[in-house]
Amino acid sequence: MTKYFEVTHRDGSARLGKLRFPTPLPTPAICDDFLYNSGSLWATEKEIPSSPSIDKLLILPHRGFPSGTEPILEDAFFVEPPDIDSPTAAVISPKTASDLHTDAYILSTTSHSLGPPNKFCNDIIQTKISIPPDSALYLPGIATPQNLSFFVYLGIDLFDTTRAVLSGLQGTYLLPTGDYPLENLDELPCHCPSCSVSIDKFTNEDCATHNINTLKNELSLVTQYVRSNRIRDYLEGQVRHNTWLTAAFRYLDSNSHYLEQRTPVARTEGFIATTEDSLNRIEITRFQERILTRYKNRFTHPLVLVPCSAKKPYSKSKSHRFFHQSIRFRGHKVSISSPLGIIPQELELTYPAQHYDTVVTGNWSSDEINRISKLLSQYIESNSYPNIIAHVPPGGYRDIVELATKNSSIPIEYTVVAHPLSPESLQNLDNALSLVPHYSRRERMLYQAQAIADYQFGNGAGDLLFTDCTLKGKYFARRIFDTDQIATLLPEYGLFSLTLHGANKLKNSKFNIPTVTIDNFVPQGSVLAPGVVSAPETIRSGDEVLVQGPLAFAVGRAIMSGPEMQQSSRGVAIDIRHVQKL
Ligand SMILES: [Zn+2]
Repeated sequence: MTKYFEVTHRDGSARLGKLRFPTPLPTPAICDDFLYNSGSLWATEKEIPSSPSIDKLLILPHRGFPSGTEPILEDAFFVEPPDIDSPTAAVISPKTASDLHTDAYILSTTSHSLGPPNKFCNDIIQTKISIPPDSALYLPGIATPQNLSFFVYLGIDLFDTTRAVLSGLQGTYLLPTGDYPLENLDELPCHCPSCSVSIDKFTNEDCATHNINTLKNELSLVTQYVRSNRIRDYLEGQVRHNTWLTAAFRYLDSNSHYLEQRTPVARTEGFIATTEDSLNRIEITRFQERILTRYKNRFTHPLVLVPCSAKKPYSKSKSHRFFHQSIRFRGHKVSISSPLGIIPQELELTYPAQHYDTVVTGNWSSDEINRISKLLSQYIESNSYPNIIAHVPPGGYRDIVELATKNSSIPIEYTVVAHPLSPESLQNLDNALSLVPHYSRRERMLYQAQAIADYQFGNGAGDLLFTDCTLKGKYFARRIFDTDQIATLLPEYGLFSLTLHGANKLKNSKFNIPTVTIDNFVPQGSVLAPGVVSAPETIRSGDEVLVQGPLAFAVGRAIMSGPEMQQSSRGVAIDIRHVQKL
Protein backbone atom coordinates (compact mmCIF):
# COMPACT_ATOMS: atom_id res chain seq x y z
CA MET A 1 0.00 0.00 0.00
CA THR A 2 1.58 3.26 -1.09
CA LYS A 3 0.34 6.06 1.10
CA TYR A 4 2.66 8.92 0.19
CA PHE A 5 2.89 8.58 -3.59
CA GLU A 6 0.17 8.96 -6.19
CA VAL A 7 0.16 8.79 -9.99
CA THR A 8 -1.88 11.67 -11.39
CA HIS A 9 -1.39 11.35 -15.16
CA ARG A 10 -0.08 8.75 -17.60
CA ASP A 11 1.37 9.14 -21.07
CA GLY A 12 2.11 5.56 -22.09
CA SER A 13 4.59 4.24 -19.54
CA ALA A 14 5.63 7.78 -18.54
CA ARG A 15 3.67 9.36 -15.75
CA LEU A 16 3.18 12.43 -13.60
CA GLY A 17 2.64 11.96 -9.91
CA LYS A 18 3.27 13.48 -6.54
CA LEU A 19 5.06 12.58 -3.35
CA ARG A 20 2.47 13.46 -0.76
CA PHE A 21 4.60 15.55 1.59
CA PRO A 22 2.86 18.39 3.54
CA THR A 23 3.85 20.45 0.47
CA PRO A 24 3.48 17.84 -2.31
CA LEU A 25 6.49 17.28 -4.60
CA PRO A 26 5.33 16.81 -8.19
CA THR A 27 7.09 14.03 -10.09
CA PRO A 28 9.11 13.35 -12.17
CA ALA A 29 11.43 15.16 -9.79
CA ILE A 30 15.03 15.72 -8.81
CA CYS A 31 14.87 14.54 -5.24
CA ASP A 32 18.32 15.29 -3.67
CA ASP A 33 16.79 17.80 -1.24
CA PHE A 34 13.96 15.50 -0.22
CA LEU A 35 15.91 12.45 0.98
CA TYR A 36 16.90 11.21 4.40
CA ASN A 37 19.31 8.32 4.01
CA SER A 38 19.40 5.86 6.93
CA GLY A 39 22.53 4.42 5.38
CA SER A 40 24.02 1.13 4.35
CA LEU A 41 24.05 -1.81 6.72
CA TRP A 42 27.29 -3.19 5.32
CA ALA A 43 29.52 -1.18 7.69
CA THR A 44 27.39 -1.02 10.82
CA GLU A 45 23.84 -1.35 12.14
CA LYS A 46 21.67 1.70 11.38
CA GLU A 47 18.96 3.30 13.45
CA ILE A 48 15.74 4.57 11.92
CA PRO A 49 14.82 7.98 13.37
CA SER A 50 12.21 7.55 16.12
CA SER A 51 9.93 10.16 14.54
CA PRO A 52 10.79 10.30 10.82
CA SER A 53 10.09 13.52 8.96
CA ILE A 54 6.98 13.53 6.75
CA ASP A 55 8.53 16.03 4.33
CA LYS A 56 11.44 13.76 3.41
CA LEU A 57 11.64 10.38 1.72
CA LEU A 58 13.27 8.09 4.29
CA ILE A 59 15.66 5.67 2.60
CA LEU A 60 15.41 2.62 4.83
CA PRO A 61 18.59 0.86 6.05
CA HIS A 62 19.73 -1.32 3.19
CA ARG A 63 22.43 -3.42 1.63
CA GLY A 64 23.20 -2.46 -1.94
CA PHE A 65 24.74 -5.02 -4.31
CA PRO A 66 26.97 -4.57 -7.33
CA SER A 67 25.52 -5.56 -10.68
CA GLY A 68 25.89 -9.29 -11.35
CA THR A 69 25.51 -10.43 -7.72
CA GLU A 70 23.99 -13.90 -7.44
CA PRO A 71 20.31 -13.71 -6.35
CA ILE A 72 20.99 -16.31 -3.62
CA LEU A 73 23.50 -13.90 -2.05
CA GLU A 74 21.09 -10.97 -2.34
CA ASP A 75 18.33 -13.04 -0.72
CA ALA A 76 20.62 -14.05 2.16
CA PHE A 77 21.35 -10.42 3.03
CA PHE A 78 17.85 -9.12 2.30
CA VAL A 79 16.59 -6.50 4.76
CA GLU A 80 12.88 -6.71 5.59
CA PRO A 81 11.61 -3.12 5.57
CA PRO A 82 9.93 -2.03 8.82
CA ASP A 83 6.38 -0.68 8.72
CA ILE A 84 6.71 3.07 9.27
CA ASP A 85 4.00 5.69 8.90
CA SER A 86 6.03 8.22 6.92
CA PRO A 87 7.26 8.38 3.31
CA THR A 88 9.75 5.55 2.83
CA ALA A 89 11.92 4.13 0.07
CA ALA A 90 13.46 0.66 -0.12
CA VAL A 91 16.70 -0.12 -1.93
CA ILE A 92 16.17 -2.98 -4.37
CA SER A 93 17.80 -4.62 -7.36
CA PRO A 94 15.96 -5.78 -10.51
CA LYS A 95 16.33 -9.40 -9.30
CA THR A 96 14.96 -8.83 -5.82
CA ALA A 97 12.32 -6.21 -6.67
CA SER A 98 8.94 -6.99 -5.08
CA ASP A 99 6.13 -5.24 -3.24
CA LEU A 100 7.74 -4.17 0.05
CA HIS A 101 4.91 -1.76 0.99
CA THR A 102 7.08 1.33 0.65
CA ASP A 103 6.17 4.48 -1.29
CA ALA A 104 9.29 4.47 -3.44
CA TYR A 105 11.98 2.07 -4.62
CA ILE A 106 15.61 2.84 -5.34
CA LEU A 107 17.51 0.77 -7.88
CA SER A 108 20.88 -0.03 -6.37
CA THR A 109 22.77 -1.61 -9.23
CA THR A 110 22.72 0.98 -11.99
CA SER A 111 24.63 3.84 -10.43
CA HIS A 112 28.04 3.38 -12.08
CA SER A 113 27.27 2.46 -15.65
CA LEU A 114 24.21 2.06 -17.83
CA GLY A 115 25.57 -1.17 -19.32
CA PRO A 116 24.24 -2.69 -22.54
CA PRO A 117 20.97 -1.03 -23.68
CA ASN A 118 18.94 -4.26 -23.81
CA LYS A 119 20.05 -5.35 -20.33
CA PHE A 120 19.27 -1.90 -18.95
CA CYS A 121 15.75 -1.93 -20.47
CA ASN A 122 15.11 -5.47 -19.23
CA ASP A 123 16.27 -4.51 -15.73
CA ILE A 124 13.94 -1.50 -15.60
CA ILE A 125 10.99 -3.47 -16.99
CA GLN A 126 11.64 -6.33 -14.56
CA THR A 127 11.72 -3.84 -11.71
CA LYS A 128 8.63 -1.94 -12.85
CA ILE A 129 6.50 -5.05 -13.18
CA SER A 130 7.66 -6.34 -9.76
CA ILE A 131 6.83 -3.24 -7.71
CA PRO A 132 3.31 -1.79 -7.36
CA PRO A 133 2.36 0.49 -10.29
CA ASP A 134 1.46 3.29 -7.90
CA SER A 135 4.87 3.45 -6.23
CA ALA A 136 7.71 5.75 -7.32
CA LEU A 137 10.92 4.46 -8.86
CA TYR A 138 14.17 6.33 -8.17
CA LEU A 139 17.17 5.85 -10.45
CA PRO A 140 20.13 7.33 -8.56
CA GLY A 141 23.37 8.78 -9.86
CA ILE A 142 22.75 8.58 -13.60
CA ALA A 143 20.50 11.35 -14.90
CA THR A 144 21.88 13.85 -17.40
CA PRO A 145 19.99 16.40 -19.52
CA GLN A 146 20.46 14.04 -22.45
CA ASN A 147 19.13 10.79 -20.99
CA LEU A 148 16.47 12.13 -18.64
CA SER A 149 13.60 12.06 -21.17
CA PHE A 150 14.21 8.40 -21.99
CA PHE A 151 14.17 7.42 -18.32
CA VAL A 152 10.92 9.31 -17.79
CA TYR A 153 9.49 7.57 -20.88
CA LEU A 154 10.39 4.22 -19.26
CA GLY A 155 8.36 5.14 -16.17
CA ILE A 156 11.10 6.31 -13.76
CA ASP A 157 9.96 9.08 -11.42
CA LEU A 158 12.88 10.27 -9.29
CA PHE A 159 16.40 11.42 -10.14
CA ASP A 160 19.27 13.32 -8.55
CA THR A 161 22.00 15.78 -9.57
CA THR A 162 24.95 13.50 -8.72
CA ARG A 163 26.03 12.85 -12.31
CA ALA A 164 25.47 16.48 -13.35
CA VAL A 165 27.64 17.77 -10.49
CA LEU A 166 30.41 15.19 -10.96
CA SER A 167 30.55 15.83 -14.70
CA GLY A 168 30.77 19.59 -14.09
CA LEU A 169 33.56 19.25 -11.55
CA GLN A 170 35.44 17.13 -14.07
CA GLY A 171 34.99 19.83 -16.73
CA THR A 172 32.20 18.24 -18.79
CA TYR A 173 29.49 20.63 -19.95
CA LEU A 174 26.09 18.92 -20.31
CA LEU A 175 23.35 19.79 -22.75
CA PRO A 176 20.27 17.81 -23.91
CA THR A 177 22.18 17.07 -27.13
CA GLY A 178 25.23 15.59 -25.41
CA ASP A 179 28.26 15.96 -23.15
CA TYR A 180 30.99 18.45 -24.17
CA PRO A 181 34.51 18.73 -22.66
CA LEU A 182 34.91 22.38 -21.65
CA GLU A 183 38.20 22.68 -23.51
CA ASN A 184 36.38 21.93 -26.78
CA LEU A 185 33.96 24.84 -26.39
CA ASP A 186 34.77 28.23 -27.91
CA GLU A 187 31.85 29.88 -26.16
CA LEU A 188 29.13 28.89 -23.71
CA PRO A 189 25.98 27.92 -25.66
CA CYS A 190 23.62 28.70 -22.76
CA HIS A 191 22.13 31.73 -21.04
CA CYS A 192 21.65 30.35 -17.53
CA PRO A 193 23.08 32.55 -14.69
CA SER A 194 26.22 30.39 -14.38
CA CYS A 195 27.00 30.84 -18.06
CA SER A 196 26.81 34.66 -17.95
CA VAL A 197 30.61 34.89 -17.52
CA SER A 198 33.12 34.67 -20.38
CA ILE A 199 34.42 31.18 -21.06
CA ASP A 200 37.95 31.94 -19.80
CA LYS A 201 36.50 32.79 -16.35
CA PHE A 202 34.11 29.80 -16.33
CA THR A 203 35.20 27.38 -13.58
CA ASN A 204 34.38 23.72 -13.11
CA GLU A 205 32.13 24.75 -10.18
CA ASP A 206 30.24 27.06 -12.60
CA CYS A 207 30.04 24.10 -14.97
CA ALA A 208 28.50 21.94 -12.23
CA THR A 209 25.88 24.63 -11.54
CA HIS A 210 25.16 24.99 -15.25
CA ASN A 211 24.71 21.21 -15.49
CA ILE A 212 22.17 21.28 -12.65
CA ASN A 213 20.32 24.18 -14.31
CA THR A 214 20.19 22.31 -17.62
CA LEU A 215 18.99 19.12 -15.95
CA LYS A 216 16.19 21.05 -14.26
CA ASN A 217 15.24 22.79 -17.52
CA GLU A 218 15.08 19.44 -19.27
CA LEU A 219 12.95 18.02 -16.46
CA SER A 220 10.46 20.89 -16.88
CA LEU A 221 10.34 20.38 -20.63
CA VAL A 222 9.89 16.61 -20.38
CA THR A 223 7.17 17.05 -17.75
CA GLN A 224 5.31 19.33 -20.14
CA TYR A 225 5.58 16.73 -22.92
CA VAL A 226 4.18 14.03 -20.63
CA ARG A 227 1.37 16.34 -19.51
CA SER A 228 0.40 16.97 -23.14
CA ASN A 229 0.71 13.25 -24.02
CA ARG A 230 3.55 13.89 -26.50
CA ILE A 231 6.59 12.38 -24.78
CA ARG A 232 7.06 9.91 -27.64
CA ASP A 233 7.07 12.72 -30.22
CA TYR A 234 9.88 14.43 -28.30
CA LEU A 235 11.83 11.24 -27.72
CA GLU A 236 11.91 10.10 -31.35
CA GLY A 237 14.01 13.22 -32.04
CA GLN A 238 15.90 13.37 -28.76
CA VAL A 239 17.36 9.84 -28.76
CA ARG A 240 19.02 10.46 -32.10
CA HIS A 241 21.81 12.46 -30.43
CA ASN A 242 23.15 9.35 -28.74
CA THR A 243 23.74 5.81 -29.98
CA TRP A 244 23.09 4.15 -26.59
CA LEU A 245 19.74 5.94 -26.26
CA THR A 246 18.75 5.10 -29.84
CA ALA A 247 19.62 1.45 -29.30
CA ALA A 248 17.70 1.30 -25.99
CA PHE A 249 14.70 3.05 -27.54
CA ARG A 250 14.60 0.57 -30.44
CA TYR A 251 15.10 -2.39 -28.15
CA LEU A 252 12.06 -1.26 -26.18
CA ASP A 253 10.04 -0.97 -29.40
CA SER A 254 11.05 -4.45 -30.48
CA ASN A 255 9.94 -5.89 -27.11
CA SER A 256 6.81 -3.84 -26.96
CA HIS A 257 4.50 -5.64 -24.50
CA TYR A 258 5.55 -3.29 -21.70
CA LEU A 259 4.66 -0.24 -23.83
CA GLU A 260 1.56 -1.81 -25.36
CA GLN A 261 0.01 -2.54 -21.99
CA ARG A 262 0.47 1.11 -21.02
CA THR A 263 -0.66 2.76 -24.28
CA PRO A 264 -4.29 3.96 -24.34
CA VAL A 265 -6.56 2.72 -27.13
CA ALA A 266 -7.50 6.30 -28.00
CA ARG A 267 -6.90 9.87 -27.01
CA THR A 268 -7.77 13.26 -28.37
CA GLU A 269 -4.19 14.45 -28.92
CA GLY A 270 -2.57 13.77 -32.25
CA PHE A 271 1.00 12.68 -32.83
CA ILE A 272 3.63 13.20 -35.46
CA ALA A 273 5.09 10.28 -37.36
CA THR A 274 8.25 11.56 -38.99
CA THR A 275 10.94 8.98 -38.30
CA GLU A 276 11.42 5.32 -39.12
CA ASP A 277 10.83 4.62 -35.42
CA SER A 278 7.31 6.05 -35.84
CA LEU A 279 6.44 2.87 -37.75
CA ASN A 280 6.82 0.97 -34.46
CA ARG A 281 4.54 3.20 -32.41
CA ILE A 282 2.00 1.12 -30.50
CA GLU A 283 -0.85 3.28 -31.83
CA ILE A 284 0.18 2.34 -35.38
CA THR A 285 0.99 -1.35 -34.92
CA ARG A 286 -2.21 -1.85 -32.90
CA PHE A 287 -4.33 -0.24 -35.67
CA GLN A 288 -2.68 -2.42 -38.32
CA GLU A 289 -3.17 -5.55 -36.25
CA ARG A 290 -6.85 -4.82 -35.64
CA ILE A 291 -7.49 -4.09 -39.33
CA LEU A 292 -6.20 -7.57 -40.15
CA THR A 293 -7.77 -9.48 -37.26
CA ARG A 294 -11.01 -7.62 -36.50
CA TYR A 295 -12.10 -5.71 -39.59
CA LYS A 296 -14.43 -7.30 -42.15
CA ASN A 297 -15.61 -5.56 -45.32
CA ARG A 298 -19.41 -5.70 -45.67
CA PHE A 299 -19.70 -3.94 -49.03
CA THR A 300 -20.16 -6.02 -52.18
CA HIS A 301 -18.70 -3.22 -54.31
CA PRO A 302 -15.26 -2.96 -55.94
CA LEU A 303 -12.25 -2.07 -53.80
CA VAL A 304 -11.06 1.44 -54.71
CA LEU A 305 -7.53 2.10 -53.49
CA VAL A 306 -6.60 5.77 -53.12
CA PRO A 307 -3.68 7.70 -51.59
CA CYS A 308 -4.19 9.21 -48.14
CA SER A 309 -4.30 12.96 -47.62
CA ALA A 310 -2.49 15.29 -45.23
CA LYS A 311 -5.82 16.67 -44.04
CA LYS A 312 -7.78 14.47 -41.64
CA PRO A 313 -10.24 12.92 -41.72
CA TYR A 314 -9.36 12.09 -45.31
CA SER A 315 -12.92 12.70 -46.55
CA LYS A 316 -12.58 16.38 -45.70
CA SER A 317 -9.52 16.85 -47.93
CA LYS A 318 -9.68 18.37 -51.38
CA SER A 319 -8.30 15.26 -53.06
CA HIS A 320 -10.80 12.91 -51.42
CA ARG A 321 -13.70 15.21 -52.30
CA PHE A 322 -12.66 14.84 -55.94
CA PHE A 323 -12.36 11.05 -55.55
CA HIS A 324 -15.81 11.00 -53.99
CA GLN A 325 -17.29 12.89 -56.96
CA SER A 326 -16.05 10.11 -59.23
CA ILE A 327 -16.82 7.15 -56.95
CA ARG A 328 -20.27 8.36 -55.79
CA PHE A 329 -21.01 5.46 -53.40
CA ARG A 330 -20.22 2.79 -56.00
CA GLY A 331 -16.90 1.60 -54.59
CA HIS A 332 -15.42 0.78 -51.19
CA LYS A 333 -12.74 3.41 -50.65
CA VAL A 334 -9.60 2.23 -48.85
CA SER A 335 -6.77 4.71 -48.31
CA ILE A 336 -3.12 3.75 -48.37
CA SER A 337 -0.94 5.63 -45.91
CA SER A 338 2.47 5.55 -44.37
CA PRO A 339 2.89 4.95 -41.53
CA LEU A 340 -0.68 3.85 -40.74
CA GLY A 341 -1.12 1.33 -43.56
CA ILE A 342 -4.57 0.44 -44.88
CA ILE A 343 -7.56 2.53 -43.83
CA PRO A 344 -11.06 1.41 -44.92
CA GLN A 345 -13.49 4.33 -45.34
CA GLU A 346 -15.55 3.24 -42.29
CA LEU A 347 -12.56 3.76 -39.98
CA GLU A 348 -11.40 7.19 -41.12
CA LEU A 349 -12.53 8.72 -37.82
CA THR A 350 -11.20 5.90 -35.65
CA TYR A 351 -8.10 6.57 -33.58
CA PRO A 352 -5.44 7.17 -34.80
CA ALA A 353 -6.64 7.53 -38.43
CA GLN A 354 -7.48 11.21 -37.97
CA HIS A 355 -4.86 11.89 -35.29
CA TYR A 356 -1.48 11.44 -36.96
CA ASP A 357 0.56 13.89 -38.95
CA THR A 358 3.36 12.85 -41.26
CA VAL A 359 5.73 14.24 -43.86
CA VAL A 360 4.23 14.05 -47.34
CA THR A 361 7.10 14.00 -49.83
CA GLY A 362 5.88 11.29 -52.16
CA ASN A 363 9.16 9.44 -51.57
CA TRP A 364 8.74 6.04 -49.98
CA SER A 365 11.55 4.05 -48.41
CA SER A 366 11.83 0.41 -49.46
CA ASP A 367 11.01 -0.53 -45.85
CA GLU A 368 7.74 1.45 -46.04
CA ILE A 369 6.86 -0.11 -49.40
CA ASN A 370 7.50 -3.62 -48.10
CA ARG A 371 5.58 -3.12 -44.88
CA ILE A 372 2.50 -1.50 -46.41
CA SER A 373 2.33 -3.86 -49.40
CA LYS A 374 2.42 -6.82 -47.01
CA LEU A 375 -0.47 -5.31 -45.07
CA LEU A 376 -2.42 -4.64 -48.27
CA SER A 377 -1.81 -8.15 -49.54
CA GLN A 378 -3.11 -9.66 -46.27
CA TYR A 379 -6.05 -7.25 -46.31
CA ILE A 380 -7.07 -8.27 -49.86
CA GLU A 381 -6.70 -11.94 -48.97
CA SER A 382 -8.95 -11.70 -45.93
CA ASN A 383 -11.72 -9.61 -47.52
CA SER A 384 -13.66 -10.50 -50.65
CA TYR A 385 -13.93 -8.05 -53.53
CA PRO A 386 -15.19 -8.62 -57.09
CA ASN A 387 -12.42 -6.42 -58.50
CA ILE A 388 -9.87 -3.77 -57.55
CA ILE A 389 -9.57 -0.24 -58.92
CA ALA A 390 -6.21 1.26 -58.03
CA HIS A 391 -6.47 5.04 -58.21
CA VAL A 392 -2.92 5.64 -57.06
CA PRO A 393 -0.11 7.81 -58.45
CA PRO A 394 3.02 6.30 -60.00
CA GLY A 395 5.95 5.68 -57.65
CA GLY A 396 5.65 4.33 -54.11
CA TYR A 397 1.86 3.97 -54.07
CA ARG A 398 1.78 2.04 -57.33
CA ASP A 399 4.75 -0.10 -56.24
CA ILE A 400 2.82 -1.03 -53.10
CA VAL A 401 -0.30 -2.08 -55.03
CA GLU A 402 1.67 -4.03 -57.64
CA LEU A 403 3.66 -5.85 -54.98
CA ALA A 404 0.56 -6.60 -52.90
CA THR A 405 -1.51 -7.95 -55.82
CA LYS A 406 1.15 -9.84 -57.78
CA ASN A 407 -0.17 -13.22 -56.60
CA SER A 408 -3.84 -12.19 -56.47
CA SER A 409 -6.38 -13.48 -59.00
CA ILE A 410 -8.76 -10.55 -58.48
CA PRO A 411 -8.99 -8.33 -61.61
CA ILE A 412 -7.24 -5.00 -61.12
CA GLU A 413 -7.47 -1.77 -63.09
CA TYR A 414 -5.16 1.24 -62.75
CA THR A 415 -6.97 4.53 -63.40
CA VAL A 416 -4.36 7.24 -62.82
CA VAL A 417 -2.65 9.02 -65.68
CA ALA A 418 0.18 11.18 -64.29
CA HIS A 419 -1.77 12.55 -61.30
CA PRO A 420 -4.78 11.19 -59.35
CA LEU A 421 -6.60 14.54 -59.63
CA SER A 422 -6.10 15.06 -63.37
CA PRO A 423 -9.43 15.22 -65.25
CA GLU A 424 -8.44 12.15 -67.28
CA SER A 425 -7.64 10.12 -64.14
CA LEU A 426 -10.89 11.12 -62.43
CA GLN A 427 -12.86 10.25 -65.57
CA ASN A 428 -11.13 6.85 -65.70
CA LEU A 429 -12.18 6.25 -62.09
CA ASP A 430 -15.78 7.20 -62.89
CA ASN A 431 -15.77 4.96 -66.00
CA ALA A 432 -14.33 2.01 -64.09
CA LEU A 433 -17.43 2.08 -61.86
CA SER A 434 -19.99 2.79 -64.61
CA LEU A 435 -21.76 -0.58 -64.33
CA VAL A 436 -21.76 -0.69 -60.51
CA PRO A 437 -24.95 0.23 -58.57
CA HIS A 438 -24.86 2.82 -55.77
CA TYR A 439 -25.10 1.74 -52.18
CA SER A 440 -27.64 3.46 -49.99
CA ARG A 441 -27.04 6.01 -47.23
CA ARG A 442 -28.32 3.48 -44.70
CA GLU A 443 -25.90 0.81 -45.93
CA ARG A 444 -23.02 3.26 -45.67
CA MET A 445 -23.92 4.35 -42.13
CA LEU A 446 -24.78 0.85 -40.88
CA TYR A 447 -21.61 -0.73 -42.27
CA GLN A 448 -19.53 2.04 -40.74
CA ALA A 449 -21.14 1.53 -37.31
CA GLN A 450 -20.65 -2.24 -37.59
CA ALA A 451 -17.02 -1.86 -38.71
CA ILE A 452 -16.22 0.43 -35.78
CA ALA A 453 -17.87 -2.02 -33.35
CA ASP A 454 -15.83 -4.88 -34.86
CA TYR A 455 -12.66 -2.82 -34.53
CA GLN A 456 -13.47 -1.90 -30.94
CA PHE A 457 -14.96 -5.11 -29.53
CA GLY A 458 -13.94 -7.91 -31.92
CA ASN A 459 -14.82 -9.30 -35.34
CA GLY A 460 -18.62 -9.79 -35.55
CA ALA A 461 -19.55 -7.52 -32.64
CA GLY A 462 -21.02 -5.09 -35.17
CA ASP A 463 -23.57 -7.72 -36.29
CA LEU A 464 -24.49 -8.55 -32.70
CA LEU A 465 -24.91 -4.93 -31.62
CA PHE A 466 -26.43 -3.34 -34.70
CA THR A 467 -29.07 -5.24 -36.69
CA ASP A 468 -32.62 -4.03 -37.27
CA CYS A 469 -31.59 -0.75 -35.72
CA THR A 470 -32.34 2.92 -36.22
CA LEU A 471 -29.38 5.13 -37.08
CA LYS A 472 -29.54 8.79 -36.11
CA GLY A 473 -27.00 11.22 -37.54
CA LYS A 474 -26.18 13.23 -40.63
CA TYR A 475 -22.87 11.93 -42.04
CA PHE A 476 -22.43 8.98 -39.70
CA ALA A 477 -24.60 7.18 -37.15
CA ARG A 478 -24.10 9.29 -34.06
CA ARG A 479 -26.73 7.47 -31.97
CA ILE A 480 -28.04 3.96 -32.61
CA PHE A 481 -31.27 2.47 -31.27
CA ASP A 482 -33.36 -0.67 -31.40
CA THR A 483 -35.78 -1.12 -28.49
CA ASP A 484 -33.62 1.42 -26.65
CA GLN A 485 -30.43 3.35 -27.36
CA ILE A 486 -27.48 0.97 -27.88
CA ALA A 487 -24.50 3.27 -28.27
CA THR A 488 -23.21 6.75 -29.08
CA LEU A 489 -20.38 7.33 -31.52
CA LEU A 490 -17.69 9.70 -30.21
CA PRO A 491 -16.48 11.36 -33.42
CA GLU A 492 -13.28 12.69 -31.80
CA TYR A 493 -12.09 9.09 -31.25
CA GLY A 494 -14.18 7.28 -33.86
CA LEU A 495 -15.22 4.78 -31.16
CA PHE A 496 -18.48 3.93 -29.41
CA SER A 497 -19.59 4.47 -25.86
CA LEU A 498 -22.19 1.88 -24.84
CA THR A 499 -25.43 2.32 -22.96
CA LEU A 500 -26.54 -0.30 -20.43
CA HIS A 501 -28.74 -1.74 -23.16
CA GLY A 502 -25.72 -2.03 -25.48
CA ALA A 503 -23.58 -3.44 -22.66
CA ASN A 504 -26.21 -6.10 -21.95
CA LYS A 505 -26.17 -7.15 -25.61
CA LEU A 506 -22.41 -7.80 -25.40
CA LYS A 507 -22.45 -9.28 -21.89
CA ASN A 508 -22.00 -13.05 -21.91
CA SER A 509 -21.52 -12.99 -25.70
CA LYS A 510 -18.58 -14.60 -27.46
CA PHE A 511 -16.95 -11.17 -27.58
CA ASN A 512 -14.58 -10.87 -24.73
CA ILE A 513 -15.59 -7.37 -23.80
CA PRO A 514 -13.68 -7.14 -20.56
CA THR A 515 -15.65 -7.33 -17.33
CA VAL A 516 -14.18 -5.87 -14.15
CA THR A 517 -15.38 -7.42 -10.89
CA ILE A 518 -15.94 -4.93 -8.11
CA ASP A 519 -16.68 -5.12 -4.41
CA ASN A 520 -19.94 -4.82 -2.57
CA PHE A 521 -20.94 -1.26 -3.57
CA VAL A 522 -22.86 0.74 -6.15
CA PRO A 523 -20.34 2.92 -8.05
CA GLN A 524 -21.09 6.62 -8.32
CA GLY A 525 -19.24 8.36 -11.16
CA SER A 526 -16.12 6.26 -10.92
CA VAL A 527 -14.60 3.07 -9.53
CA LEU A 528 -11.38 3.62 -7.58
CA ALA A 529 -8.59 1.05 -7.85
CA PRO A 530 -9.05 -0.32 -4.28
CA GLY A 531 -12.67 -1.19 -5.21
CA VAL A 532 -11.54 -3.51 -8.03
CA VAL A 533 -11.59 -7.19 -7.06
CA SER A 534 -10.33 -8.50 -10.39
CA ALA A 535 -9.72 -7.13 -13.86
CA PRO A 536 -8.71 -8.94 -17.07
CA GLU A 537 -5.10 -8.41 -18.18
CA THR A 538 -6.35 -7.37 -21.63
CA ILE A 539 -7.88 -4.05 -20.52
CA ARG A 540 -6.13 -0.97 -21.84
CA SER A 541 -6.72 2.62 -20.81
CA GLY A 542 -9.61 3.97 -22.89
CA ASP A 543 -11.33 0.58 -23.36
CA GLU A 544 -15.06 0.23 -22.85
CA VAL A 545 -15.51 -2.11 -19.89
CA LEU A 546 -18.40 -3.80 -18.15
CA VAL A 547 -18.43 -3.64 -14.37
CA GLN A 548 -20.04 -6.39 -12.33
CA GLY A 549 -20.45 -6.51 -8.56
CA PRO A 550 -22.91 -8.07 -6.09
CA LEU A 551 -24.89 -4.79 -5.95
CA ALA A 552 -24.45 -3.28 -9.42
CA PHE A 553 -23.90 -3.78 -13.12
CA ALA A 554 -22.32 -0.84 -14.92
CA VAL A 555 -20.56 0.26 -18.09
CA GLY A 556 -17.76 2.78 -18.39
CA ARG A 557 -14.32 3.58 -19.73
CA ALA A 558 -11.07 2.22 -18.29
CA ILE A 559 -8.66 4.86 -17.04
CA MET A 560 -5.92 2.32 -16.26
CA SER A 561 -4.81 -0.98 -17.77
CA GLY A 562 -6.22 -4.16 -16.20
CA PRO A 563 -3.02 -5.06 -14.32
CA GLU A 564 -2.69 -1.52 -13.01
CA MET A 565 -6.26 -1.36 -11.69
CA GLN A 566 -5.77 -4.69 -9.96
CA GLN A 567 -2.44 -3.79 -8.33
CA SER A 568 -2.96 -0.11 -7.47
CA SER A 569 -4.15 1.13 -4.13
CA ARG A 570 -4.96 4.64 -5.38
CA GLY A 571 -6.52 6.44 -8.31
CA VAL A 572 -9.54 6.23 -10.60
CA ALA A 573 -9.67 2.86 -12.38
CA ILE A 574 -12.90 3.30 -14.37
CA ASP A 575 -15.06 6.26 -15.32
CA ILE A 576 -18.59 4.96 -14.94
CA ARG A 577 -21.20 6.08 -17.47
CA HIS A 578 -24.32 4.08 -16.59
CA VAL A 579 -25.15 2.01 -13.51
CA GLN A 580 -27.89 -0.53 -12.87
CA LYS A 581 -28.56 -1.43 -9.23
CA LEU A 582 -29.09 -5.14 -8.67
ZN1 LIG B 1 24.26 27.39 -18.49
